[in-house]
Formats: sequence, C-alpha cells, structure tokens
Amino acid sequence: MADECDVLIIGAGPAGLMLGCWLARTGTKTRIIDRRATKITRGHADGVQCRTIEIFQSFGIADRIEKEGNELAVPTSRIPDTEPNTSRFRHRVLNQGRIEDFLIDCMKTGGLTVERSVSPLSMEHSDSPTETHPVIVKVQHLIPATDETVDVSSGLYRSNILSDEEFNRSTAKSGKIETIKAKYVVGCDGARSWTRNQLGFSLEGDSANIYWGVMDARPITDLPDVRVKVVLHSANSGSLLIVPRERNLVRFYIQMGTILPGEKLDPSAQSPEKIIESARKILTPYTLECPEVEWWSVYEIGQRICKDVSFKNRVFLAGDAFHTHSPKGGQGMNFSMSDSYNLGWKLAACAKGLASPSILNTYGGERVEVARELIEFDHKVSRLFSGKPAITAESEGVSMAEFQALWVRMGKWTSGTAVVYNSSLLIADSTAAKTELAKNIIIGSHFESHMVLCYADAHAVQLADKLVADGRWRLIVFAGDLGNQNQLQRFNDLCSELKNAPKSPIRKYTAPDADLNSFIEVLTLTSSPRNGLSYSAFPELARPFVGKFRYPTYDQVFSDEVSYLDGGGKAYTGYGVDPDGPGCAVLVRPDQHIADVRGFEDCVEKLGQFFDGFMIQK
Ligand code: FAD
Repeated sequence: MADECDVLIIGAGPAGLMLGCWLARTGTKTRIIDRRATKITRGHADGVQCRTIEIFQSFGIADRIEKEGNELAVPTSRIPDTEPNTSRFRHRVLNQGRIEDFLIDCMKTGGLTVERSVSPLSMEHSDSPTETHPVIVKVQHLIPATDETVDVSSGLYRSNILSDEEFNRSTAKSGKIETIKAKYVVGCDGARSWTRNQLGFSLEGDSANIYWGVMDARPITDLPDVRVKVVLHSANSGSLLIVPRERNLVRFYIQMGTILPGEKLDPSAQSPEKIIESARKILTPYTLECPEVEWWSVYEIGQRICKDVSFKNRVFLAGDAFHTHSPKGGQGMNFSMSDSYNLGWKLAACAKGLASPSILNTYGGERVEVARELIEFDHKVSRLFSGKPAITAESEGVSMAEFQALWVRMGKWTSGTAVVYNSSLLIADSTAAKTELAKNIIIGSHFESHMVLCYADAHAVQLADKLVADGRWRLIVFAGDLGNQNQLQRFNDLCSELKNAPKSPIRKYTAPDADLNSFIEVLTLTSSPRNGLSYSAFPELARPFVGKFRYPTYDQVFSDEVSYLDGGGKAYTGYGVDPDGPGCAVLVRPDQHIADVRGFEDCVEKLGQFFDGFMIQK
C-alpha cells in the first residue's frame, strides 16, 4: 500500500531543508528523504548573505546565525563587504553544517524530520485527471555499513572532480522498498541530481579548465590581513581568497592549476599538503603554516544551468540541481535556499487547494531569470579571479581596477537584496500600480525594513520582522496622519470596505470560521504619533480579535515615531511615502516580495481582481 503525501522532497541540503521549513510551518503533509546516513558537519558553503539572514528571520531563526557566524564587515582592498543600507543584517560566514542544523530544528517545530539513508529508485507520473497524488516514487531504505569510517575532514566525496561512479559509490546495503505517492515532488538533490536525470533534463554551460583547492584551517602566518576578507593576486602563481571564519578558522580558496581538455584530475593525488603548498607560492614573501586543517576539498570551476525546472507543474528542481557555479561569489547555498523560499508557499497553497496550480508557473518564470544573472556574474568573477594580473595599465592580463569595480557594482546584487521579479500572476504590472504613492518601493522586490514603534506598547520593532513566513499575505497600509479627521475617515472607510465588501479578497477568501487576519494580515503604519489616537479607536480589521477566546491583537498597528532608545522615525521617508499625503496600501507576498501598490480608493477593487486571478473560493 503506497504512502500518500502532499510533497516529497528528495535531498536534505540547504534547498531541501528550506523547503521543508515552509511546508512544515504551513502544515503541508511532507516527507523529506536523503540518501546519506549523516548530514555534513564541516566545510562546504559558508557565506550567508544579508537577504538569506532576512529569510531566516522570517522563520524566527536569524539570531542563531547572528550569534555563531563571523561578520564580514571590513574592507577587502578598502571595499566594504556589505554596502551601508543594504539590509538590517550583515554578511556573515558560518559553515553549511550549522546552517543545516538551524533549518532542521526549524522544521522539527512543524513536526517534519529528515528520513536518512533513503534513496529513490524510480519515478512515474500518472496523467489520470482523477488522480490526486499523480507522482509515484519508489524508494529504497538503505542499511548503512556499520564499519564505514568517514573522514570528516575531507570534502572530496562531494567534489565535482569525481566521476559519477566514484561519486555514487556507497557501502550501504539495500533494504526495504517503499512506494510513495505525492501531489508534488521537488528534486533538491544537488548538482548530480537524480530527479533531473529522471526527467531527462540536463545542465548546460561551461566547465572551465581551472581547478581550485579549498580548506578551513587555523593558520600561522605573518600576512597581516588574515582576519579580513582578502583577494590576493600573485604575479605568476595564481590567486587566493581569504575569508575569516567562526572559531578562529580561516577559509582559503586557492587556485591550484589548469587541466587540459579531456584530462581528468586524479582525486587520490589531492591532499591538504598540496593545497597548502600552492597557497604558499601565492602568498610569498609571507609565510604560512597550517598545523590544523579542519576540512579541505578540490573542485573544478564551471557554470551550468538547467533551463527546465518543472515537469507538468508536478515535479520541480531547486538549488544545485538546477544551477551550478563556483563558490567564490558565495552564492550557491544562498541561491539554493532562495529557490525553495520562492517555491514553498506556492506549493503549500496548491496542495491545500487554496490556489490554482497556474501560480506554479511563476517559480520557473522568476527563478530561471535570476539564475541566469547568477551564472553571468559568476562567469565574470571566476575569469577575474583566475586570470593573471596586469602589472601596468598597458600590459595584458586582468586589470585590478576592473576587478574592484565589478566587486563594488555587484555588492548589492551578491547580498541577494537586488532581486526583482517581473510582473506575473503574482506580481502586478508596475506601470498600472500606484507607485507614485510609495516612491522608494519597487514592485517585485522584497519589502525592506525600517524601525517603527508598536502602537500598543511603544516597543521599537523592525517592520519586516512582522512578515513572518507562515503562508499569509500582508497588506501594509500607510494610513498617514490620523490626527487629520478627513484622513482618519478615509482610513476607516478602507478598513470597512476590506472587511465587508463582497469583492474584497479578505471577505472572499478568508475561510468563514477563520480569524480575520488568517489569509491577509493588515499591518497599519501611521505617520501621526501614538498619543494622537487611542489604540482602541482603530477599526477591527486593523486590530482583529483572534483565536478560540477572541483575544485582541496588539502587533498589527505601528507608528513612524522615534523611539527613545532605538531611533527610527524614518520609515515614511525611507519608503518614499508622503506622511501628510493620502497614504497607500502595499501588498506583500508570503515570501516578502512586493506584489502591488494601491491607493485607498482603488485598493479593494484592484486587489480583488488580483486575487481572483488565482485564488480558489471555498
Ligand atoms: P546540496 O547541498 O548538494 O544537497 C543535496 C542533498 O541531496 C545532499 O544532502 C545529498 O546527500 C542529497 N542527495 C543527492 N542525491 C540524492 C539522491 N539520489 N537521493 C536522495 N538524496 C540525494 N555556497 C554559498 O552560498 N556560499 C559559499 O560560500 C559557498 N562555498 C562553497 C564552498 C565549497 C567548497 C563548495 C563545495 C560549495 C560551496 N558553496 C557555497 C555551494 C553550496 O555548497 C551549494 O551550492 C549548496 O550546498 C547547494 O545546496 P543544495 O541543497 O541545492 O544541494
């Protein structure tokens, strides 16, 4: 008898675990399998970009990265690592194993755990229109060999210098076979994706002829800049990237050499000693000793992308299964998690029958475009990293000025905060929206944060912290000056229409017995101070009564006032909204991307049409 679930996730790396968090939090029946008996504990990715920490914050777990990760705030050749005003968080570094731990704990709070030593054998799709769970996957439960000793300091077992055969070699014995029927399957199974191969999709693009070594070590060196992020180009021995890490570790990326076309690196000839020797040549005249290497690996650079990320909107690819590139831009883990952060809430809404499956087209529409930009960026960065430096402006080679300029230009982009999705079923056409009412808000971009004051208790809060990842949409109402009677009336009228008008999406798509804020949560931000209007004078939509005992909510109304201790008072200016003007309403998707901006007068009608495009009325 087959087991049925809404979503089957294949692969529990960063992409799979992030998806698991969404699905667990939204109560979607999910299974997540991984063929490896244990998770990684050391090495691999370590850069955690600002936007990724914002995403972690939406699950309430950013503090764990803030506490353990090392901050990269200092200049690389005098360039700030995080541009001021990029995000309320700063670029940090922490090993992938810990990031995965945080996601695993987060998933557990929603009752989902990884099933390890489970490997898929076959996948079929039923076209029957009556089949509710059309993807049938046979999986095998593996019995790991008891005498298997794993060298945790070597990351070679996941390197792309291994052949498929070497990569797939396992000492585990085959166990029970099980059939799983799923509404949706997501292949988060890494660069050599089994799911992608089953679908007959392939990665296209380049693989460069340069190979790199990487290691996490506690070095002894007279190089002065070993605790700041440094890019070092030597005249003849290649280049090296230094990233200071947690627990006094330092991550080194070291250019090792070139491979001729058709040639293959011998994995057994690679060693930490060889990597250290290459690093010494680049660092000369500085000295380097690494008595303690916690983790190391060797890999080839390549930029590849799979143009197809979905099969019949039932099977999807996310993360490295869909794009691969070099680690030097610090993007892989971040991009992989952003893929599934984009997909998770959409799958949850479709699995529960709340939204039309047509919204799933936006996953490929949005992420393939961004992945193309990533590949283009990585191509440029890798060329500049690996090229020989030009000694003078006239000589041949990589211009250091060009290298620095690219780094500065791409600063915001690499932070992950510059992603803007184009108009679609889930993003309104910006030319038709009322963007003039919120001049600094970009439709399709993520909602940036500003410090505001909670109306009920005067606590200073980051407004974006209220955009919790729970599947709800947010309508952020810039109510303006509510000390002005005319504006107060307009605001009350808007709330009343949103709550009661038959065409209002809140009225139409909130389940009859559910809380008023369960589908769209209205967050109100006034430009007038808290003492101008009492909290109890706000209409019910702004401070609904929720739960079994109809408790009043105290965390949906805010004022753009300066906090005595924490500053703030600049939100209206930051978002480009006139504090004495007519106000506006900004619609934000469950993944924090801005879907629309409306004036009070056209808000209900336009948002009604927007949601009618894909929501299913129960
Ligand atoms: P993976 O992390 O590869 O996870 C795939 C999971 O699927 C694994 O757990 C695997 O066991 C499982 N799996 C595979 N096949 C199957 C199967 N058939 N059945 C079941 N399970 C399966 N990225 C950054 O963002 N920043 C960095 O600084 C950075 N540095 C890096 C340094 C190095 C040395 C390396 C190697 C990578 C680095 N990356 C970096 C890239 C980053 O590690 C990857 O992009 C990221 O791990 C991709 O996540 P993923 O979940 O898509 O895939």
